[in-house]
Amino acid sequence: MSDTAQPNRPAAPTAETSTVNGRRLGPASTATHPLATAPVGSPSHNVDGFVREFLHELNTNQGVTLSASSLNDQYLALASTVKNYLMARWLETGLKTRAAKVKTVGYLSAEYLLGRQLDNALLASDLADIAEKGLELCGIDLADLRVQEVEPGLGNGGLGRLAACFIDSLATMDVPSIGYGIRYEYGIFRQTFVDGRQVEQPDTWLALGAPWEFPHPESAVQVHFGGHTERYADDGGQERTRWVPSWNVLAVPYNYMVPGYLNGRVNTLRLWSAQATKAFDLQIFNSGDYAQAVRAQTFAENISKVLYPEDSTPQGKELRLQQQYFFVAASLRDFIDHELEPGFDLHRLPERITFQLNDTHPVIAVPELMRILIDEHGFDWDEAWEVTRQCFDYTCHTLLPEALEVWPTELLGRLLPRHLEIIFQINDQFLSLVRQTYPGDEMLARRMSMISEHPERGVRMAFLATVAASRVNGVAELHSQLLRDKVLPDFSSLWPEKFTNVTNGVTPRRFVRLSNPLLSELITDTIGAGWLTDLERLKELEPYADDPQFRERFAAVKAANKHRLTDLLRARDGIDLPDGHLLDVMVKRLHEYKRQSLKLLHIVSLYEQVISGKISAADLTPRTVVFGAKAAPGYRMAKDTIHLINKVAAKVNAAPELEERLKIAFPANYNVTLAETLIPAADLSEQISLAGMEASGTGNMKFALNGALTIGTDDGANVEIRRLVGDKHFFLFGMDEPAVSALGAKGYNPGSCYEANPQLKATLDLILSGHFSDGDRHLFDSVVYNLLNQDRFMALADFQAYVDTQAKVEERYADQEAWTRSTILNVARTGYFSSDRSMRDYLQRIWHTSPML
Ligand SMILES: *Cc1c(COP(=O)(O)O)cnc(C)c1O
Repeated sequence: MSDTAQPNRPAAPTAETSTVNGRRLGPASTATHPLATAPVGSPSHNVDGFVREFLHELNTNQGVTLSASSLNDQYLALASTVKNYLMARWLETGLKTRAAKVKTVGYLSAEYLLGRQLDNALLASDLADIAEKGLELCGIDLADLRVQEVEPGLGNGGLGRLAACFIDSLATMDVPSIGYGIRYEYGIFRQTFVDGRQVEQPDTWLALGAPWEFPHPESAVQVHFGGHTERYADDGGQERTRWVPSWNVLAVPYNYMVPGYLNGRVNTLRLWSAQATKAFDLQIFNSGDYAQAVRAQTFAENISKVLYPEDSTPQGKELRLQQQYFFVAASLRDFIDHELEPGFDLHRLPERITFQLNDTHPVIAVPELMRILIDEHGFDWDEAWEVTRQCFDYTCHTLLPEALEVWPTELLGRLLPRHLEIIFQINDQFLSLVRQTYPGDEMLARRMSMISEHPERGVRMAFLATVAASRVNGVAELHSQLLRDKVLPDFSSLWPEKFTNVTNGVTPRRFVRLSNPLLSELITDTIGAGWLTDLERLKELEPYADDPQFRERFAAVKAANKHRLTDLLRARDGIDLPDGHLLDVMVKRLHEYKRQSLKLLHIVSLYEQVISGKISAADLTPRTVVFGAKAAPGYRMAKDTIHLINKVAAKVNAAPELEERLKIAFPANYNVTLAETLIPAADLSEQISLAGMEASGTGNMKFALNGALTIGTDDGANVEIRRLVGDKHFFLFGMDEPAVSALGAKGYNPGSCYEANPQLKATLDLILSGHFSDGDRHLFDSVVYNLLNQDRFMALADFQAYVDTQAKVEERYADQEAWTRSTILNVARTGYFSSDRSMRDYLQRIWHTSPML
């Protein structure tokens, strides 16, 4: 393979990997021909050039003629064709960035919820029209190929999707960056429903080929685990430590293109896949135990086998820690050995990299860098710490205590003994600083220790991250405030300047331009081009909110998007959406704090009032509620809630009393692809978490940008959305965070809400009566009694406010002109939520670097 086929990679393999199966791997070429160091050009950017390239790929890559090709062949050939167009830019980006020796952003994230790649690549390379016409000449409909792609679902929800939006924005803004993560063989499970209950299927996203990835087994790096540490004296008599690990795996990089929007930059996403090492196998093979050798292989490869499906409440499993160290160790090794020029002085590392820790998942990178500098490069402790603390920044994504990772020291010591020693030493040094700063306050030192003693001895990864990072940020203003005041108050008193906020954003390329082409066209028609990379320009739409003609066009876009959704759900799920309904959408992971149960109580309450004759069906605003939500497979309450939603849906959808004026649709397997069709069709966006619980939310931003109005609590980025769009164009309800805190302190008794509110009582009683469970009065005890007795997220306390505010929604919806006016103002005023703006904030407040121009 020639130099030009290895993006971002000079021919400098490490000694460890310079031969594989006896084949030498490099240096690849010493050729002096000009083409040896420059990428060859791209195919011609026109329909003929495209068709030639496409047919060539079909013949040479898929080994078929057009007439004999399957849809999958055509999809794979199309993907290859698009990659060929992007390739020269990818290679140039690598060369240019290396030559400039500028600071790179290393985004460390255990999750990337990428969504489909094809359309984004076509958009970024300006090939969409050419491809459509070219394929048409071949008798192929581009739309048929699009749906062939299985999205890479290498994330759970918001956190993983955020990482995907950020790397898109970094590329579009010309910022040198590498995303590092894990190439899970199975991403987030595919959700199906059997009798209304969630059943998980493996996500076999790689089964029909993975055309977007470039594996580089020759650049694999070793990652070690286990064993023990030893002291020894080096040649100069200095006491030093070495880690003697007991096993290792190979980390094989798979590179993905991250194309900027029409700017010629193509950054890299490098995902690591685990493979057994030869040395490891050989030992066991030599002992003659073939079956054991195969098991060992499987054991190693398990590390990148499957994404853990817990969102917000991670399980402290050994394999999960293995995954975390695996990708982080490989990424640091890769950056230091392969991205920096040989002989680079690591004292200057902070000039060349800033690693962003996406939550605590990659925090083991901190002791890993210390280990590399001290044990491998002979740094003394203070020198190593000085470099390390300048290389990391930490983003916290939660406020839920159960979401903060704590790794048992027993496990850490067994898996990463040297790292545990280093963590203890970081903690000792830190605590002596605390004792110096606050003499005599031993309680404080204990509170701030990275080591917790209960329920077992463990390392609080968020504390380690906070101590090591130059900057610590929350993901929305309210969240950053609560992070300082409630989660890490002692740290924020010690280092107030360390804490900052960067409000999340979403990429407008995927979540406006690709997902809502009709709205995009209308916007460009109205304010001209350029807004897609300068989203605050949507403000220029504001005056058009008062233009009846524009409102008519805007409403027509929404209607067309609803029809597009109707077609999709009919084909995908066999669901028939009624025409002319208010489309009320709640899509996000199923979690108690997000309060899908509150939405459900609203529906059941409407239904109960009609069937009991308190109101007539004619009083209902015709409404369809769409749910989309996966539950973590081990999260009982969440799965029971899904079951209950499906049972209520079955009953409500079949009730003649409702005269088709209330419907529930719950398409299974909510993912990025579904979001892209669902969100642009929505009228009402449900963002109803208990105040103080949702760190930011990004779904809320996608909806507002696509012309849905929000009903929401004063939580996460809702606060900023409401401030920007204005109170009149946002349906606020419920307790704010101080009220939640006060109620919690006073003692919250959900049972008293039930007793005091006849409609709430009737609603819960209807569920308890077995009405939705074929007479089984106990099927949903877990959900209902949890609400009645505990209700940790205070759904019952906010019930009446929610129901009342839904009535205001209906009132506004009845005035279609006023409604449309509000939706236009939502679009015009939410340009702030572009992830480009988030990246600008990170560049200025955290990374202190700038785009490459
Ligand atoms: C945006 C997005 C999320 C995050 O939604 P929230 O409402 O912010 O929790 C989750 N899943 C998918 C598929 C998304 O696109």
